[in-house]
Amino acid sequence: MKIVIIENPRPLTREHYNDVANAPLSASLNSGYALAVARRAGWKTVYLDFTADVRDAVDIAVTILAEDADIVLFHWVYSWGHEESVRTVLDRLRRDCAATLGAFGLFPTLSCDRLLQFAPQLHFILAGEFEETLAELLPIFGKRHTIVALPGVLLRGEAFVPRPLMADLSLLPVPDDVGANCGFASLNIAASRGCYGECSFCFIHRYYGCNRRRTRDLGSLERELEIRLKRRTIESLYFIDPTFIGLGEHERKRVLEVGLMAQRLGLPFGLETRVDGIDRELLATLAGNGATSVFLGIESGCDSVLQRIGKRISTEQIRHGVRAVRASGMELHLGFIMFEPDSTLAEIEENYTFLEELDLLEEQELTANLLYHNQIVLHGSAAWERFESEERLLLDERLPFEARCRFRDERVGLVCAAMGRLTSSYFSGIGSIRGDFSGNATNDLLKDAFRALCRAARTLPPQQVADVEGEYAVLLLEALSAK
Ligand code: SF4
Repeated sequence: MKIVIIENPRPLTREHYNDVANAPLSASLNSGYALAVARRAGWKTVYLDFTADVRDAVDIAVTILAEDADIVLFHWVYSWGHEESVRTVLDRLRRDCAATLGAFGLFPTLSCDRLLQFAPQLHFILAGEFEETLAELLPIFGKRHTIVALPGVLLRGEAFVPRPLMADLSLLPVPDDVGANCGFASLNIAASRGCYGECSFCFIHRYYGCNRRRTRDLGSLERELEIRLKRRTIESLYFIDPTFIGLGEHERKRVLEVGLMAQRLGLPFGLETRVDGIDRELLATLAGNGATSVFLGIESGCDSVLQRIGKRISTEQIRHGVRAVRASGMELHLGFIMFEPDSTLAEIEENYTFLEELDLLEEQELTANLLYHNQIVLHGSAAWERFESEERLLLDERLPFEARCRFRDERVGLVCAAMGRLTSSYFSGIGSIRGDFSGNATNDLLKDAFRALCRAARTLPPQQVADVEGEYAVLLLEALSAK
């Protein structure tokens, strides 16, 4: 029996050039785990990655058909408006082969009912944590040549029974190393799954069906490293755990042991975590063991917004967290939502002041990112349900699984749209420039633009806000062409 795991085409579009990821980083191991599960079940496996493929959908289908598989399983990620081309691929497969077609991963889980409607060619969806479901499904399929109803399998017209989460993550197979990650000398690896947070914009707790964080046995982590490090040259590790550091003394000891493990292997590492799990002492020790970068999802510099999005942290904790990372010498990466849809002008100005206070607007690329990020509303998220019920979704029929939403304060919407256009020209302009652009003139320009747009939105009609944007667009272009 043979299974083909597919990464659906999702080439980057100009509209999404500067948008946050359409899947959490932890999804980067999904296909690797699916392949390993299938091989453990005695199946032949093939992996086809069409992520950046710009070929015609029919050509993609021909490549898949050539594999003559029994099951074709799409690791389908929100595809920035390329859903139609995936549907065309599925059409061809249904027409020209007898393979059973399925989808798995975060997007098919969150949007399962709508996806079954959108893609009637799909026979099934693996919803939620899929490894145990796939392991149970494949031997049965081998005997009966059909997908049977099992916990975790969504079949058209059948009641869905969720599968309980894996009790022991150390029973997972070692994932295959596949996809874009293999082009880097850094290895993505997971030491835990899930998160104890429940932020309203996040998919992690929705995917797992709860806000439980599970850690894996360190022996299994070490064994996985041993195997995967033999596969290619690796110079660093990146822990893709949504929250690498949990709460409590036991967790502190555990992450320090993971750090020591990386140190024994001579590999620097990066991690992502919440600010409420860190302090100076812990980060200093981790840095001493080789930790080089931390991603903190701080999201806002405004306590009222943090409360609204259910982040369960305060701006004071963020200040401590950012300073602790700085003191450790590690590189700091940030998740930030400048334009949360319910924000007032005062709140986005407070965000700006907060970022300045923490010296986070010193470097133009980071400035461009922080002063722009808004929230894309993806179908299946809590945000979609809420904005739909409030009739605030701005739908576009070309994009069936994503939407923008109407800001509660239209003036914030004006600033957001203007900053979106300005940073988009910044990123496309900077992409074509080689050489040193470390000077701060462009950085200052981006900051000035933000402040000027906020001021204008507060007092002027929309047309005059557009004029302010126009002035900065010209200045930005001049600054970039002077490089
Ligand atoms: S802390 Fe991060 S991973 Fe956890 S729920 Fe919030 S956004 Fe998601």
